[in-house]
Amino acid sequence: MARHTKIFLGLVFGAVAGVLCNKFFIAAPALAAVQKYGSDPLGKIFLNMLIMVVVPLVFSSLALGVAQIGDLKHLGRIGIRTLLYFLLVTAVAVTIGLVLVNTIRPGDYLPGEVKDKLMATYSKEASEKMGMAEQAGTEFGIQTLVNIVPRNPFAAVARPNPDMLALIFVALMTGVALTLIHSDKGQPVIRLLEGVNEIAVKIINIAMKLAPYGVAALIFSVTSRFGFDLIVALGMYVITVLIGLALHQFGVFSILVRLFARYHPLKFFRKVETVMLTAFSTSSSNATLPTTIMVSQENLGIPPKITGFVIPLGATMNMNGTALFEGVTVLFIAQVFGVELSLATQLIVVLMSVLTAVGAAGVPSGSIPLLILVLQMVHVPPEGIAIILGVDRILDMCRTVLNVTGDITCAAYIARSEGVTLKE
Ligand code: ASP
Repeated sequence: MARHTKIFLGLVFGAVAGVLCNKFFIAAPALAAVQKYGSDPLGKIFLNMLIMVVVPLVFSSLALGVAQIGDLKHLGRIGIRTLLYFLLVTAVAVTIGLVLVNTIRPGDYLPGEVKDKLMATYSKEASEKMGMAEQAGTEFGIQTLVNIVPRNPFAAVARPNPDMLALIFVALMTGVALTLIHSDKGQPVIRLLEGVNEIAVKIINIAMKLAPYGVAALIFSVTSRFGFDLIVALGMYVITVLIGLALHQFGVFSILVRLFARYHPLKFFRKVETVMLTAFSTSSSNATLPTTIMVSQENLGIPPKITGFVIPLGATMNMNGTALFEGVTVLFIAQVFGVELSLATQLIVVLMSVLTAVGAAGVPSGSIPLLILVLQMVHVPPEGIAIILGVDRILDMCRTVLNVTGDITCAAYIARSEGVTLKE
């Protein structure tokens, strides 16, 4: 059986078992024990296996990618194309979200008493997130730019959530320096990096054997705890986000794959199925990154020098689903609070959603602190975030699928523009 079929079966099994347990044993101690000693640790072990290779993998892929591209002018051309692609496609995503939220107006469907109840239930979690937003606020903006250049590269990565932009910068600089020094000195380092890269890929291969079980455990942990009645209460909002995500995932990406990568969209989606499933079950671009790199190389035949450059950058900076979600959510909360946002303010929402999606960490709910910043900026009550926190996980799973699929569409486009023929 193919790997993605097994993962898919794991996903369905975990989801169905979780929903049934949620319905019938919601408060049972036995369910809590299964979560605590079964699904939670199993899911975490699987996630950690993937995340533990992220730092060495990103460093070695990116430095090698740059060294293999070799010529700095060529690198600049690929770099500019990649960044433009990220920004433009992310802006398209937010625009889709804003058009939908202005048309459907989900905020008008939320009864006042449901709003008050949600605000009361999630107020503690919301104020925690607002604390995180305050911290993010001091780091966001010009400081985000300064932080890209770390004083101490080891300190930037030696923490549970490594600073990916700093890691990318150090790796880029290493790659550039490798192309500039004498090959006598450079070659041994390149060989070492190639070895590190191969080891990382091998570990991912081993970890992915666990994927069907890990994915089942992760999904079980979510669905067995989830408050499904919330989806009904917030139905119109959830539907607006999901329609937007689906339009971008299957509409915009299909067009981009067809036009820019000259590849059949259906075939493309089939080839990247494993990546989509991993993103959906982990809710994390970072945790999916190793799989994204491996699948782009093995299934689509995108050369390592391009995946090594585009994919790590994309996992950190290119978040189409997140930007779309942010745009819809800001306007939804504004509608619930009766704040009308003018066209000019909505343009600020577009700009800020794109920028904060670049700055958001590729971890579950990584965008929420930055979303709070956008709310504050356009004078929508930030504590309104409490209204959507209960459904965030499900929406996060879906938007992360777009975040990573977008990275591969970009890598496919860059490969094509460099004259590479993708694997059929
Ligand atoms: N979970 C998302 C990701 O990792 C980030 C977010 O939207 O919260 O891509």
